[in-house]
Amino acid sequence: MSYEKSYDLLRQILSKIDGKIALSFSYQAEDTVVLHFLSQCKIKSLEVFTLDTGKLFEECEKLHKETEKFFKISIKRYLPKKNDIEELEKELGDWGMRDSLKNRHLCCHIRKVEPLERALKNKSAWITGLRAAQSITRNELQILEYDEKFGIFKINPLAFWSEGDVFDYIKKYDLPINSLYSKGFKSIGCKPCTRAVNEGEDARAGRWWWENPEHKECGLHIKEK
Ligand code: SF4
Repeated sequence: MSYEKSYDLLRQILSKIDGKIALSFSYQAEDTVVLHFLSQCKIKSLEVFTLDTGKLFEECEKLHKETEKFFKISIKRYLPKKNDIEELEKELGDWGMRDSLKNRHLCCHIRKVEPLERALKNKSAWITGLRAAQSITRNELQILEYDEKFGIFKINPLAFWSEGDVFDYIKKYDLPINSLYSKGFKSIGCKPCTRAVNEGEDARAGRWWWENPEHKECGLHIKEK
């Protein structure tokens, strides 16, 4: 889908939504493209937020500052609850999230899902940089969806973009980008659960690489059946 068409569609959808809009910024190139779209949309009430899991790469912190400066915005951080983290760390230590799917889901719930619930409270719509081609867990993705789990409209303007489209756009507008991409990372997540990938490997191969592909979601983008 062309840049122009995606942008127009996003504008049309947003013109029909009242209330506060949220963009989740997770240090991926896709999020920066969507932020660039939104910077031209003149939205009355937009919150750009990130889920600060406490396990982010230093490169993400660097991009956080660069992005705020470039777009002249402030990216709000939602942190996990202190007590939950203390309990979690007692139970799992530094690496226990790799021991089982149950442990990993518990960690993702405390560090990501619960803070996301707070971030989406009182918002009318949630915009993401998800693409259908990213993984088998996302192949049914649509541009406009209703997220039953969080009870909110979810807009995915890049649903039908390819990876090449994203990086061409970043280059065209000289937008800030996470330096992890130049180190072989193709999808950005928490430090203990993300690695660089080899040439030809799937973009999500570096996320939770010890798990089966159908499990590779953190609970933020799972559809209720
Ligand atoms: S991605 Fe890994 S470190 Fe981050 S919240 Fe999930 S299990 Fe925890």
